[in-house]
Amino acid sequence: MEKSKSLKYYFLFSFYFIIFGMVVAALTSYVNYSMTVVNIKKQITRNVNSIFDEKAFYTNQIMKRYVLLLNTFSKNSLLIDYIENPAFHNKEHLDAFFLASVESTFNLMQLRYIDEKGVERSRVDRKSGRVFIVPENKLQDKSDSYYFKESAKLPENSIWKSKVDLNREHGKIEIPLNPTFRMATPVYINGNFKGIVIVNLMMSNVLNNLVKADNFDVFICDGKGRMLLTTGENQIWSGYLNKHVTLKNYLPEYADKILANDVFSTENLYSFNLEPQIQNGENIRLVFKTKQEYILETRADNTYAAFIIALTTLAVSIPLAWIAAFIPSRLQTKLTETNRSLREFMNILDRYVITTSTDVNQIITRVSLAFSRISGYSREELIGNTNKLIRHPENDPAIYKELWETIQCGDVWQGELRCQDKHGNTFWLRKIISPDLNEKGEIIGYTSIDYDFTAIKQIEEMSVTDQLTKISNRRWLDASLKKEMVRFERYGHDFSVILLDIDHFKNVNDNFGHAEGDSVLIQLAAILKSSTRASDTVGRWGGEEFLIIAPETLKDDCFVLAEKIRHAVEDHDFGAVGHVTVSLGVAQYESGSTAAHFIINADNALYRAKQGGRNRTEKA
Ligand code: GH3
Ligand code: MG
Ligand code: MG
Repeated sequence: MEKSKSLKYYFLFSFYFIIFGMVVAALTSYVNYSMTVVNIKKQITRNVNSIFDEKAFYTNQIMKRYVLLLNTFSKNSLLIDYIENPAFHNKEHLDAFFLASVESTFNLMQLRYIDEKGVERSRVDRKSGRVFIVPENKLQDKSDSYYFKESAKLPENSIWKSKVDLNREHGKIEIPLNPTFRMATPVYINGNFKGIVIVNLMMSNVLNNLVKADNFDVFICDGKGRMLLTTGENQIWSGYLNKHVTLKNYLPEYADKILANDVFSTENLYSFNLEPQIQNGENIRLVFKTKQEYILETRADNTYAAFIIALTTLAVSIPLAWIAAFIPSRLQTKLTETNRSLREFMNILDRYVITTSTDVNQIITRVSLAFSRISGYSREELIGNTNKLIRHPENDPAIYKELWETIQCGDVWQGELRCQDKHGNTFWLRKIISPDLNEKGEIIGYTSIDYDFTAIKQIEEMSVTDQLTKISNRRWLDASLKKEMVRFERYGHDFSVILLDIDHFKNVNDNFGHAEGDSVLIQLAAILKSSTRASDTVGRWGGEEFLIIAPETLKDDCFVLAEKIRHAVEDHDFGAVGHVTVSLGVAQYESGSTAAHFIINADNALYRAKQGGRNRTEKA
């Protein structure tokens, strides 16, 4: 019963803690998940920014390299020598230098020197992987070309850049598509304009590099939205091939915003203006669109992480919950057990320990069941009443006086007390009464813890009582005689005895029956008891003989007592038996005598009384 109860607590606690653990796990996962959404965005943004930074750096490096290259070409002494002296050998040196430069620079498609009038003077081409010097007769007048006109206007040390465009051969777009980019710088000697150096750069490598990004689709368009290139489906040159395909076709919602801002980002789009790196006025945009699978993958990673965290939290919280539940449930079990044993103990106390508590006015405030049982009164009858209820009427009031004086001083009283129950029966309590004190040490009542020794008392009485006549038996008489003998020897207290025998008692039995004989014995005992003092001992010596021990009594006085008894018996009406007489022998104890001898003296006197005609008293 108790075990199953504690088990119940155990499960209850476990249940609560596990629920708690689950709530914690759920909260953790929820928080984690919400953070995941933010995290994914952050993670992707971080990723795209670093990719762009890398690409911007790369573009910048390339541009710097070409600027450096152009400066090298325009300030080169071979070019200066040729401009100042366009002799054949100088032309040859310049051509060789241009040839070597183009050959050693992979992206370089064309390198030219055009003089101040716009006429090509030295030109190296790369075509179909072959690098060669264009012969003198193939050189053209480019004075009308936009690039000459624009770059010729520039001051010394400036760089002109074209838009990114598809290469044309003889006015037609070269197939396969070949994106190119022109850069030029004016040549000055001593502050005088001497023409331009112009390069054609192959952009396919650069552009292909720009659209390379593992987790993103990348779009490159110019500032007007004309597509240059996209990932996968490259070779889109809408603006140039007249396909009218613009960024709007790819990102209809955001194209305008992307073009209107240098930096722009939405849900899955990130765009950057590459103008600061390229600086050709074209405002080329690099647009990254997060690949759906990347988002899913990142989300899956994060969700997986959240799941693992939730699982870990749960895995940790459940055993923790069990451990946590174990302690209170064990405490609960202990508490229940302690409580139960305490209750049992209290029950035992209540049932078997006789206790009463009273207030200072002897009004009963508390009684145990045991007390209620022994006294015969119910708790209701006892509580509120005084404990005089069970006072034995024959008790000496001096006992109570002494008792009260003791406990009122705050001391403990111990002693035996004869009590009377509701039905008038005597019972005996061995009591320990102690005062109850409040916190100030004042007496607020008394508690008595009692031991019922009625049974012992009864056995004790039985052992010294004659069963028929209920007066002292031979054993008690012997003991009393010895006691008086000791008192005599020690203190010189005189004492006498009367030995009494019923006359012709045999006849009573014979004529009226044994029962009537017994009745005579009982009545006679009562007469003896009432004729003597409380300090006298009256007992049945044996058969129909009785002995009376009278302390502090001389022989003559005892004779008077004997005679008084004799008359009382003589006068008594024994009912059916009628009148009965007794003979008595009186003896006084004398120093040095033995008990046996002393009684023989009394017996002798009794014998003489019998001899003298019965119904007489004789002195020893
Ligand atoms: P006396 O003493 O006068 O010489 O005559 P008696 O008849 O009394 O003499 P005796 O001592 O011979 O007889 C005593 C009788 O008392 C014998 C016995 O039957 C009777 N007796 C002794 N004890 C009891 C008893 O407990 N109950 C009854 N009914 N009779 C008893
Ligand atoms: Mg006799
Ligand atoms: Mg007799």
